[in-house]
Amino acid sequence: MRKHILIVGGGYVGLYSAMGLRKLVRSGEASVTVVDPRGYMTYMPFLAEAVGGSIEPRHVAAPLGQVLKGMRVLTGRVTRVDHEARSAEFQPVQGPARTIEYDILVMAAGSITRGLPIPGLAEHAVGFKSIGEAVHLRNRVLANLAAAASTDDELVRRRALTFVVVGGGFSGVEALAEMQGLADEAVRYHDGIEAADLSWTLVEANDHILPELHPDLGRWTVDALRRRAVDVRLGTRLTSLAGGVAVLSDGTELDAGTVVWAAGGRPSPLAAASGLPVDRIGRLLATEYLTVAGVEDAFTAGDGAAVPDLTRPGEFTAPNAQHAVRQAKLLGRNLVAYVRGRRLKPYRHAYLGSVAGLGHHQGVAQVYRIKLTGLLGWLAHRAYHLGWVPTARHKAAVLADWLLAGLFRREMVRLEAIEHADEDFRHALAVGQTDGTGVPAATPEPAAGRPVRDVSAAGEAGSVAGTDARQAPAA
Ligand SMILES: Cc1cc2nc3c(=O)[nH]c(=O)nc-3n(C[C@H](O)[C@H](O)[C@H](O)COP(=O)(O)OP(=O)(O)OC[C@H]3O[C@@H](n4cnc5c(N)ncnc54)[C@H](O)[C@@H]3O)c2cc1C
Repeated sequence: MRKHILIVGGGYVGLYSAMGLRKLVRSGEASVTVVDPRGYMTYMPFLAEAVGGSIEPRHVAAPLGQVLKGMRVLTGRVTRVDHEARSAEFQPVQGPARTIEYDILVMAAGSITRGLPIPGLAEHAVGFKSIGEAVHLRNRVLANLAAAASTDDELVRRRALTFVVVGGGFSGVEALAEMQGLADEAVRYHDGIEAADLSWTLVEANDHILPELHPDLGRWTVDALRRRAVDVRLGTRLTSLAGGVAVLSDGTELDAGTVVWAAGGRPSPLAAASGLPVDRIGRLLATEYLTVAGVEDAFTAGDGAAVPDLTRPGEFTAPNAQHAVRQAKLLGRNLVAYVRGRRLKPYRHAYLGSVAGLGHHQGVAQVYRIKLTGLLGWLAHRAYHLGWVPTARHKAAVLADWLLAGLFRREMVRLEAIEHADEDFRHALAVGQTDGTGVPAATPEPAAGRPVRDVSAAGEAGSVAGTDARQAPAA
């Protein structure tokens, strides 16, 4: 009988396992549905370069429908799984929720940003886990430089030029390094601002950064960042962000215009909410065959799964792309074996080491026992990650971006308008209803500082006015 495989999540695990199935599965054996709220896989290790501008953000995203042509890709979120009934509740991006029946489940929903109950965090910090956040951060750096160059208010200027990143793992360190690289280049185009006017702080609760790497490389990175005038605060926590002021556990207060929260992730809550077996931190319990422990017809891998590490008995594989990609490839093969009633293979992969890019042509890399720093580390970071970019087209696009960024200076355009795409339109409509003085005939209800069209003044239907009101952002 033809099996229906449902893959929840189209990130590393979802995409690569589906790509494997696409190659291996015979027609008539199985059909595959991939569900993801974004509809594209994000190539996370290059997100920081998208902030810095050496890679175009679109090139770190692989559209699932295009890459998995011929497979069913649904855009939306699985909100609950009832594995007993072999059915999942699915909320599409538009329209009512529906149910998806399946025979075999693959849980690949990864992780979400880990929040802490810090006052002001939700209102004032920016996360760093998605392309949207990367684009926003890039715009924010450029917008803040422009704001600082345009004001004569010293407090506004100081705030705009103060950047704080919380979290000394890969994502925090790379984000800070690339933001600084971008800003250092952008200051050339602003009279009255020099790189030395900008304040950069990296806050890390542990006494070291980049824990995935050898301690020597973490120390080298701290020194490299400090040489670039980054204030690296080890053994320090963010305790408050109320009013946008970053208060650190050592008593320091920084009136920061930009605070990036990169303090780690936690497993997707979907598995626990669906009654599947999870460990104490919410990871789905997996066997070395990438099946869900004690559950028939269910598989898992990646950041959301506790996969036994056969090379380090008693431990679990770390949540990183190195394991996620390799697990996904085996997962694809094991799914085919499962459908065919054959034996599954165990996952075994010894840690190869890791790489991190620090902008400014610097990086750190650890490949087995070999440690590389500076330019060599940077080249290793780029070569390694380029190798894992999912398609030939994306590899070519990333290479072309690097070539352009190497030949010419970086593109400095900031496209904040994308984040408020309807603003000009609404403004134009509001001005269109003025008496010629530029003042609207009827004063519209202001929402978060945006001009809102007063449709009732134009005699239009109340339902349209209601639509406008709903679309206005909460203040
Ligand atoms: C900024 C950043 C930089 C990184 N850099 C590195 C690096 O340099 N090296 C390295 O090894 N690792 C790196 N990582 C870690 C690496 O990206 C992850 O380990 C990897 O993405 C895990 O793959 P995954 O498939 O488990 O999860 P993901 O790739 O996160 O995929 C999960 C997918 O599930 C989808 N999803 C979530 N909830 C639902 C739902 N309810 N229904 C349907 N779909 C859902 C999400 O939209 C997402 O597409 C980085 C991570 C970040 C955030």
